[in-house]
Amino acid sequence: MSFSLPRGTQDILPDEMPKWHMIEQTARDLFSTYNFSEIRTPIFEYTPIFARGMGEHSDIFTKEMYSFEDKSGRHLTLRPEGTAAVTRATIMHALHKKMTPLKLYYIGPFFRYERPQAGRHRQFHQIGVEYIGEDSAYVDAEVIAMGYHLFESLGITDLKVCINSVGCDVSRPVIEEMVKQFLSQNITKLPKHIQEKFHSNPLRILDSKDEVVQAYIAGMPDIKDALTQKSKDHFFSVLQHLDEMAIPYHVTNTLVRGLEYYTETVFEIVSEHLGAQGTVCGGGRYNNLSAELGGPNLPAFGFGFGIERTIMLLDHLKKNYTQSIDLYLIPMEPLSRDRLFYLMHKLRNCNISCEMGYTNNLKNQLKRADRLNAKRVVISRETDRETKTVEYKNMLNRTQETVPLADLFEVIVSDFDVNESDYIE
Ligand code: ATP
Ligand code: MG
Repeated sequence: MSFSLPRGTQDILPDEMPKWHMIEQTARDLFSTYNFSEIRTPIFEYTPIFARGMGEHSDIFTKEMYSFEDKSGRHLTLRPEGTAAVTRATIMHALHKKMTPLKLYYIGPFFRYERPQAGRHRQFHQIGVEYIGEDSAYVDAEVIAMGYHLFESLGITDLKVCINSVGCDVSRPVIEEMVKQFLSQNITKLPKHIQEKFHSNPLRILDSKDEVVQAYIAGMPDIKDALTQKSKDHFFSVLQHLDEMAIPYHVTNTLVRGLEYYTETVFEIVSEHLGAQGTVCGGGRYNNLSAELGGPNLPAFGFGFGIERTIMLLDHLKKNYTQSIDLYLIPMEPLSRDRLFYLMHKLRNCNISCEMGYTNNLKNQLKRADRLNAKRVVISRETDRETKTVEYKNMLNRTQETVPLADLFEVIVSDFDVNESDYIE
């Protein structure tokens, strides 16, 4: 029987896992340094949560949702993004009353019906943060700095932070009018699917990846001219804080981002090593989303980044990420097999990772130890029966010593510098 996977999905195989774990662990450690807590929401929600959150004219809502009816006729959607669901959970459990501001992060799979290509899947994984209940420019700068810091911690440094402001409710209609006026001069020269957005969602035209559109809008007047003084002040404070923290950024006048909930600051972190999918992280301020979903007025700022695209950036660095174990045990001498087996159990209780080979072919066993990247190997041979000793090999510097079986536990424990009081009998 031959198998295939649904288009746009993939198995993440054990060899790939060290990179996934490294990214997830680096993120968890860094978020804890910035005092964020984890939240997990369901993989699917009632469809209106996403419709109201992202906007019914957004690309995600119109084209990319995995929506379905369950057996009782409920309208459900596999989550395409995290912010709307986290905001829904905040309101539902009144989390903002227990802790203001509320600093949350999430890690998990997301689903969008898109054309699969490198860095674009139908099931992908995002790590995101939401800083809820505070509208200070410090927060924008702090969260952007945290995003940048995260990639730096992963060793990814040749990134660009693109930043802009889309203003507030007051300036939004003025900006829309401005974009329409500019586009109307030449709208017929733009691709058909772009023309369709002219009336429903003109701002989203700026978000198009189409090169013709990008070249055309490059000549547009700066949308920030339409911002209120308050929005301008907010934006320039954010830039000033970024300058002080030495976060390199590029003000991109046409950056608006694809979702309707954004207000004020929007940003993306982009890399030239991602081909057509240049953006690895995107986010911004969303001051109206909570109220839009029927909750209190909770200004907020967040970002999300894709794990698959981050892995593409790690692969570009060509570093090796492999899993290893501390010790591999090869009992060639049958009488020592039991002793080594129980020793393995004791060592695992000391958090020393080990494995034992159960077959009697030394060559194959040594090959396996190599494949597992074992740091040490213990071999008990037939010839060691009389002396009750074993061979203890250091696979990193290729040295070896003969150790009495009776002392082996102590030798290994001190080799790995384990405090014996940590050992649970
Ligand atoms: P793009 O412009 O590439 O479609 P987006 O603006 O739709 O991205 P966001 O909604 O901001 O993306 O999601 C944040 C991040 O999640 C992206 O920068 C990317 O790293 C990742 N991402 C989004 N969609 C996908 C996808 N279909 N496959 C893989 N990663 C994705
Ligand atoms: Mg997209």
